[in-house]
Amino acid sequence: MSSVSRPPFDGRIVALRRALRERKLDCLLVSSRDNVRYLVGFAGSAGWVLVSADDAVLVTDARYTTQAARDMGNASVRLADAGLTAAVASYISTRALTALGFEGEHLTYATVKVLESAIADSGARCELRATEGIVEDMRVAKDAGELDAIRRAAALADGAIAHARAVVHCGMTERELAWHIERWLREQGSGPIPFGIIVASGPNAALPHAMPGDRVFAEGEPIVIDLGATWQGYCSDLTRTLFLQRMAPPFDEVYRTVLAAHKAALAGVRTGMRAVEADEMARDVIRRGGLEDAFTHGLGHGVGLEIHEKPGVGRRSPDVLLDHMVFTIEPGVYLPGQGGVRIEDTVVLLNGRAQSLSRSDKEDPIVMMQSGPHRA
Ligand code: ZN
Ligand code: ZN
Repeated sequence: MSSVSRPPFDGRIVALRRALRERKLDCLLVSSRDNVRYLVGFAGSAGWVLVSADDAVLVTDARYTTQAARDMGNASVRLADAGLTAAVASYISTRALTALGFEGEHLTYATVKVLESAIADSGARCELRATEGIVEDMRVAKDAGELDAIRRAAALADGAIAHARAVVHCGMTERELAWHIERWLREQGSGPIPFGIIVASGPNAALPHAMPGDRVFAEGEPIVIDLGATWQGYCSDLTRTLFLQRMAPPFDEVYRTVLAAHKAALAGVRTGMRAVEADEMARDVIRRGGLEDAFTHGLGHGVGLEIHEKPGVGRRSPDVLLDHMVFTIEPGVYLPGQGGVRIEDTVVLLNGRAQSLSRSDKEDPIVMMQSGPHRA
């Protein structure tokens, strides 16, 4: 067993203990991989953390002994030779805990049943209680180290758009461009790509979540490119809509409207504002452009260890936007059968205002191709 005290993990465990006391829980079983990583730094695929009033333990299996010793912030490591649920049951019974919380959004029903009977078999009398969003709520405010990682991920995404602008040309397919981007990101040091890169051209750009296919790019049509990178587990999210040679109507007008909506939200969002108000700032611009029905999704979403996390930044979000939150601003307009435009930055709220972590140009979406042989 090893126990190393290391910031920022100590502070996170302390904050979690406070949340457990408020909920009258002896212990929380953290099974979400991202929450485990957030609390103790362990990034393996099989590991649970048990946090109680005076202890924090990572339960994992022998494959991860070396990694756990290397990654771990502040928890001791316990090997689960007989499986994770048996290890939890033995921990509960040894310490005579009576109220164990588990993450209701992350632990399957089947696993809860197995855990229940393992605890009963161990002779412990411990109530299992489903909890919701305890660690996720802690994760919404990013500390300096997290912001630094997201900045690095955002810089990688910016580089990928610059690369896309350099290689895109008439005759290239969506799939080819998506692969150029993905390869570039990994070669430049991005961790796993956080979601399937979207390259959607012409009518496909009317689908907010289009999959890149064999469609060939043509002059004048919108090409929506939505991509992200990761750095030390933290994500970025960036969308640019590009055009080859010129913007064909009506997308010149649509682009101006979406850009104005994007800028209105970026400039207008304030700490303490309700997320729905931020959404409305962009939506109002699009409404005045006569395109309200074509803005079919929310303004954005939180970004961190997950590509979609709290806060929600949409029409139905209950969240309030606060300093140190990181989220996207991504209005879009989609005209079925014709195409669409989306412009997305990852931003952070600091000192009351939003700062974009994405630096890619959005004023000039037109890519002029050089004449001569196609570049790859
Ligand atoms: Zn995106
Ligand atoms: Zn997004």
